[in-house]
Amino acid sequence: MTSAPFKRAAVIGWPIAHSLSPVIHNHWMRVYGIEGEYEKIAVEPETLAAAIGNMKARGFSGFNITVPHKEAIIPYLDKLAPLARLMGAVNTVKFEEDGTTTGFNTDGIGLLANLEKSLPSWPKDRPALVMGAGGAARAAALGLLNENLPFLVITNRTREKAEAIARDIGRGRMVVVDWAERHDVAKTAGLIVNTTTLGMHGNPPLELDLSISARDTVVYDIVYQPLVTPLLDHAQACGLRTVTGLGMLVYQAAAAFKVWFDIMPEYDDELRDRLEAVFK
Ligand code: NAP
Repeated sequence: MTSAPFKRAAVIGWPIAHSLSPVIHNHWMRVYGIEGEYEKIAVEPETLAAAIGNMKARGFSGFNITVPHKEAIIPYLDKLAPLARLMGAVNTVKFEEDGTTTGFNTDGIGLLANLEKSLPSWPKDRPALVMGAGGAARAAALGLLNENLPFLVITNRTREKAEAIARDIGRGRMVVVDWAERHDVAKTAGLIVNTTTLGMHGNPPLELDLSISARDTVVYDIVYQPLVTPLLDHAQACGLRTVTGLGMLVYQAAAAFKVWFDIMPEYDDELRDRLEAVFK
């Protein structure tokens, strides 16, 4: 009897030391009986092409991409899945059996899956507010536009970037407001999502007045370092429901795992405990 070949996958980025993806994928490889290893590989921008060639030569199933390569990788790929094309960014690459590469983006799927699993009763009868207009905001907007919301409001410090998202993917259902107007929108939004880097360790907090938001409002911060950001702290103090960004990390990883190994893995209690231990 021949044994199944050793499977390899990785996350590439610069820097990469703090990535939690190996904890997640190596857990699932063990749980689902896949003999293999998921590594983290530090890849400087100028060595991106060489890194792809190296992983292909070593028989990798695929790899994840994080900052700063999510857009830069596109010219090196043979095909893009529709969501990656719409987003103009790739977070997962699969080496196909014929040796070609396909780029996917699972961030929007992860963002929505986390919200649905954490708080399935999040309000869908009022507009949602997306703060930020980087790659993660595009993922959030694409995911939320598939929900039956009245409309989506987007705001960003650099307004033109929010306008570009509304123009590219908004299908007439996205409204752009100035950054200073976010406090007003927060009074009536059913869901408020932070996709900026504000609140991350080392960055200033995101200031948002939630004092008169409706009690059923959900505040979702996709920043997960720290797990409970100052924004979530403030939302909880105002009696609002909150969702942390850790689940998004897990569910975008689950969708990538499915791409490579055709198994949709579970966010089980052991994985939850392991990840939460990292933040204790
Ligand atoms: P990005 O493309 O660099 O976008 C950064 C965003 O933050 C931009 O909208 C930027 O506004 C805004 N920003 C930065 N500094 C600001 C400030 N001082 N005041 C107001 N706005 C500011 O980053 P990204 O890839 O979208 O990622 C954003 C965050 O999401 C990161 O913290 C990342 O770790 C997190 N993330 C989490 C997950 C997850 O799985 N949980 C997945 C992806 C990303 P300007 O356009 O005005 O510069």
